[in-house]
Amino acid sequence: MGRPVVGTARCSDYTPTQVGNALETALAPLGGMKAFVAPGQTVFVKVNLLMKAGPDRAVTTHPELARAVVKAAFAAGASSVALGDSPGGRSTPGSAKALFQTSGMAAVCAQEGVRLVLLDDDVVRVPVEGRQLYASFDLGREAVAADVLISLPKLKTHGFMMFTGGVKNLFGCIPGLEKAQFHLKVPDRDDFAEMLLDLMSACHPALTVMDAVVGMEGEGPAGGTPRRVGALLASSDPVALDVVASSIAGFDPMDVYTNRAAMRRGIGPAKADDVEVSGVPWREFLVGDFAHPTRDVSSKLPPALAKWVRKRVSSRPMLAQPAGCTSCRTCADNCPVGAIRMEDGRPRFDYDGCIRCYCCQELCPAQVIGLQTPWIVSAAVRARGGKA
Ligand code: SF4
Ligand code: SF4
Repeated sequence: MGRPVVGTARCSDYTPTQVGNALETALAPLGGMKAFVAPGQTVFVKVNLLMKAGPDRAVTTHPELARAVVKAAFAAGASSVALGDSPGGRSTPGSAKALFQTSGMAAVCAQEGVRLVLLDDDVVRVPVEGRQLYASFDLGREAVAADVLISLPKLKTHGFMMFTGGVKNLFGCIPGLEKAQFHLKVPDRDDFAEMLLDLMSACHPALTVMDAVVGMEGEGPAGGTPRRVGALLASSDPVALDVVASSIAGFDPMDVYTNRAAMRRGIGPAKADDVEVSGVPWREFLVGDFAHPTRDVSSKLPPALAKWVRKRVSSRPMLAQPAGCTSCRTCADNCPVGAIRMEDGRPRFDYDGCIRCYCCQELCPAQVIGLQTPWIVSAAVRARGGKA
């Protein structure tokens, strides 16, 4: 078998013409959109709509990439295109509508004649082929019932997996609060990565196009800082795409849990140079000082010690900016183990019960939950030459 192919293109901003041209360039080595969408087929476009945030915050897939992909799918002959996601946390019809509007997806879908779908309500059980942990998943029906699934992740850091891209974006095919339950059922990071690979094989995305025009560095996937990368990446192989994208973001790809799990399974490359990058060489996009999440210091420790550390001394959530807390209860309502109770309008954390999934930090609309790393772990990482 030959090396997996990732198409790359420069894209310095989100003007529609630029995004459209970059998409065409990135898809060219893969055979163009026609290689994925045949006339008469139905298409579902899975964007990242983690939470209510405008496109400038770089939390969600940019709507202009969604527009370009929808146009290309119709041009290839798609009979219908739907677009959607299941956001993090609990959604109501009102909150979903607000999220769709704020993200810019509602406007794009209205203009392009596309149905906008919340993947929470209509669920179907889908079997996993060649599974490691899971035999099947309950998934949003629309995402898997379409003839072609196209996934549009955003290049971002991720506190739990270190990096979120093509593999992690599929987690949004799991409806609503069921996602939080997975953090409860699969608290170990390596196991969680294995679960995501099972999910990938259930979802079968035909094509992944990454929005790496502006990514998110630091405390992603929601509380980080937008960072310009200037790229679009496309591949039929979400793992190969993630290995290249995480390298562009300055990671050793094997520090990313999903990449490492894929390599262990023999379905993923260990480094970007094992991928055929067609177009702009990946090093030309490299952002060497891309800020990484600080919380998973255990990834820099030897594996046996890392497991022990993860269980006992992983960074813990805390209310970092009490004055900014709006008492909205989102953190308490979405903690999968009920380790947060509200007291005087502020969250109080039960660290014995907390499984360090960081859902609270990820979903806090005010971004006032931070993470505290035990000093002894920071010192151990520094001693090994890592960033604490
Ligand atoms: S989610 Fe954030 S703003 Fe809302 S109660 Fe929790 S800490 Fe406060
Ligand atoms: S307190 Fe936060 S990090 Fe801990 S289990 Fe609950 S949601 Fe996860």
